[in-house]
Amino acid sequence: MVFLNRGTVIQDAPPHSIQFPFQPLAPMTSTPVDTILKNHNSGNFTVSGCIKWLGEPSKPEHATKVVREDEITDPTGTINLSVWDSHIQQIEDNQFYTMTNCKLKQYFGKRLATTVNTTITKAHEQDISHVEPSHKQANWVCCPEILNIYPTVYPVCNNKDCRKKISENPGSKIVRCLHCNRAMLLKNCYIEMNIDFHLEKQDKHFSVTAFPKIVGNFLQEDILQYKVNIDDLTEKLLLLENVDFELSQNNKLVISMKAHASTYWKSEQLTVW
Ligand SMILES: [Zn+2]
Repeated sequence: MVFLNRGTVIQDAPPHSIQFPFQPLAPMTSTPVDTILKNHNSGNFTVSGCIKWLGEPSKPEHATKVVREDEITDPTGTINLSVWDSHIQQIEDNQFYTMTNCKLKQYFGKRLATTVNTTITKAHEQDISHVEPSHKQANWVCCPEILNIYPTVYPVCNNKDCRKKISENPGSKIVRCLHCNRAMLLKNCYIEMNIDFHLEKQDKHFSVTAFPKIVGNFLQEDILQYKVNIDDLTEKLLLLENVDFELSQNNKLVISMKAHASTYWKSEQLTVW
């Protein structure tokens, strides 16, 4: 008898093949997008709606597969959806699809992602003309005061498929990842960083976290280079002025940052011409 408990980790399981009679599942009912946005924080969902690509396929750092971002709109709303790998070829822009087994994640706001169990089928067209385009739902805080910031630099597991945060053992050179159970030298861990901002705008306060990519895109440099000298980065960020912050719908994450003046100038120019 083998007992498994919460702490059990299955490692390096050999591949198994099992014979079983295959029966296709009954068609699943899909969940309205606004129900997902309002009532759920995790879980797997079937959604049905119009897909709009938001960019080209790309391979995220440390990932082995390609992902393409889109948004899916049904008559109740719009949610971001990451389409992975072979699913990408099955989708044409601005067409209606039913996508099963999409996993709900919290990453720069709520988003769905296709999984290995996702199937994609063409769906009937629905009337989505009354749904606000997602860029109108954007959540910008215009030029807030940056009251204080708290950058954290921390080691993460160097197992490529894991990369979870590792808590250090004071005085010990060896650390163990509580997620995948592997042990490693602290000096061989990957280093990651995130930055908590405390913003204030007209007496409203926002405690938000920015990942290095967002801050790096804004500063046009790789901010992980500051991991050994975080004070330089801190000063740079505290001295920022006239920066607009786009926040996730729950006001917890910074989705993007942009210089206010230049965009004002651009939109002004657009109006004039
Ligand atoms: Zn790990």
